[in-house]
Amino acid sequence: MSIDAVPARSVDYNRVFAQAIDRLHEEGRYRVFIDILRNKGQFPNARCFAGHNGPKPITVWCSNDYLAMGQHPAVIAAMEEALHDVGAGSGGTRNIGGNTHYHIDLENELADLHDKEAALLFTSGYVSNEATLSTLARILPGCIIFSDELNHASMIAGIRHSGCEKRVFRHNDLAHLEELLAAEDPAVPKLIAFESVYSMDGDVAPIHAICDLADRYNALTYLDEVHAVGMYGARGGGISERDDAASRLTIVEGTLGKAFGVMGGYIAADRTVIDVIRSYAPGFIFTTSLSPVLVAGALASVRHLKASPTEREGQQAAAATLKALFADAGLPVMDTTTHIVPLMVGDPVKAKRISDILLREYGVYVQPINYPTVPRGTERLRFTPGPAHDTAMMHELTAALVEIWGRLELRKAA
Ligand SMILES: *Cc1c(COP(=O)(O)O)cnc(C)c1O
Repeated sequence: MSIDAVPARSVDYNRVFAQAIDRLHEEGRYRVFIDILRNKGQFPNARCFAGHNGPKPITVWCSNDYLAMGQHPAVIAAMEEALHDVGAGSGGTRNIGGNTHYHIDLENELADLHDKEAALLFTSGYVSNEATLSTLARILPGCIIFSDELNHASMIAGIRHSGCEKRVFRHNDLAHLEELLAAEDPAVPKLIAFESVYSMDGDVAPIHAICDLADRYNALTYLDEVHAVGMYGARGGGISERDDAASRLTIVEGTLGKAFGVMGGYIAADRTVIDVIRSYAPGFIFTTSLSPVLVAGALASVRHLKASPTEREGQQAAAATLKALFADAGLPVMDTTTHIVPLMVGDPVKAKRISDILLREYGVYVQPINYPTVPRGTERLRFTPGPAHDTAMMHELTAALVEIWGRLELRKAA
């Protein structure tokens, strides 16, 4: 064999990559990102750059900026002021030059929001889950994590990276959780990881009942409140505030990127727990801290929503109206007790098709939700109406969906 010939059994990397992409196309779940710009002051109106004739006006129905805080005047003013005052970036990790006074103020504000001694900021909610869960379990030798089967990918990643044992309990199933807890040695450290509002089904965890089990089996608790902070509780402290359960939880985790409308993630807990994560979590330590501009915006947003119930009430009203309109029209709206309004489709190709027609013909933007975000066979469209979606928009949306459901001969509600 000549030395410059490609060995017959060598890897064709491009072919492997192309095949991986082809598999997604075959299953109808290849992800297409829609190219948009939101119009400040007019959200949920935005511009879409999909066609060739310049941007087209659309209405956004799938944003996680649930309360439109990303365009709130107080948030924008705080960010402008911070930018002019201290410049763009933080310039370092929290340990080396990047520990700005904005970060400290926001952590104090978040600790207070969740009735905890302390809080810790991360660059995203994903990083806060990954870094905290992986670090906690490594510090507790032999720890077993009990994880709800519908937990978010970021929690699953953290649990996996912790290298510890995990037991997956059926979604919100207390009997199953107890069975798994009871099967383990009482002397072994245990952590129960779950969410408050499950973002794709729109249901809520029984926080008190899970804390009762945690008390009985001496387990720590970790609650992801990402889809509830800002939106539930008298001050926006989430379901744990609404249910008066915050003090029973070991760690509450949240995002600044959804209802708070900016970016970043955090945990709130006792001082010692925060100190140990601050001191040991690589995902906190070895990364540039959030821009003070983002932190200033988040701080203004948290403070505003602590004092103002208007946005929460507007969102709840909008969600109730949209659910009623969908149900009256015979659309297969899932029964949820929260602000999330999912329409079950049950097929990835059809979900994408509906979404494409809505965008192209009706200027309605809602992203199809496919595996692995939801289990196969439960593909859906997930609507997130907020205080800025008015009744006329909801009627237009419902009429469009009814027309498409008929055109594609889709299954109606039972
Ligand atoms: C979005 C999400 C996260 C991640 O938060 P980001 O701030 O977007 O990184 C974590 N948990 C759940 C349940 C989420 O839906």
